Amino acid sequence: MKRKLAENYKRIEHRVAAACERAGRDPAGVTIIAVTKSVSVDVIRALLEIGVTTLGESRVQELTRRAAMIDEWISRRGIDAAAPRVPRPVWHMVGHLQRNKIKTLLPWVDVIHSLDSLRLAEAIDAHEAKRDCVTPMFLQVNAANEPQKYGVAVAAVTHLAEQITTLNHIELLGLMAVAPLDAPPDRIRYVFDRVRELFEEIVVERICGKQFRHLSLGMSQDFEYAIEAGATHIRVGTALFEGIDVAPPVACAE
Ligand SMILES: *Cc1c(COP(=O)(O)O)cnc(C)c1O
Repeated sequence: MKRKLAENYKRIEHRVAAACERAGRDPAGVTIIAVTKSVSVDVIRALLEIGVTTLGESRVQELTRRAAMIDEWISRRGIDAAAPRVPRPVWHMVGHLQRNKIKTLLPWVDVIHSLDSLRLAEAIDAHEAKRDCVTPMFLQVNAANEPQKYGVAVAAVTHLAEQITTLNHIELLGLMAVAPLDAPPDRIRYVFDRVRELFEEIVVERICGKQFRHLSLGMSQDFEYAIEAGATHIRVGTALFEGIDVAPPVACAE
């Protein structure tokens, strides 16, 4: 499994490099987030063993459970002198976040991609004030104004960014968006470009601080377009786990 994972990851890195070349960008400016929601914890361990440590989950319960399991696994390896060291992962929460889950999530998460309302921001800010922490996050934009989609309406983004900037325990890294499902390439490019324009507007107007310089756009199907539109973070699941037995039987786990 490790070899296949490493091959898949290399292939994604090549695709990233090719897209960067077309866009005249440095591949070092693109972070690949391995979205592990569809695979077992064994696959996550294998990812860490091959050096892939930037991980994403879309549900609070899964992220916290998995982060705790991996934490424990790394600590156990730490006392086994024979076991090769593995680095701790960086956890990105990429899915919708409800206010009643914040308290559970915050101790485990490193970056949140799905901030989408002032109420959510205020609730996070209050919890972070108690913990004396600052969690970096992306503001999620409903870039195609789809009725079923999460995210802030395009017309409301700038004002919300302004309001969130007044909160002391939230650091806005930039904007995040999910392209419309199964849309033709022109439509996806249009949507990503729209997010990029919004992002630039906020930068130019100096609405947020210096750390506001990131764009989380693009998944397995569309990350090349995202990179061409300026994505600094791409969230990749399916393409990374092609050909991997995602949930091996328990007997094969070790
Ligand atoms: C699942 C998920 C991804 C990864 O999608 P793939 O198409 O499997 O690459 C990216 N972003 C979000 C928000 C997701 O929920």
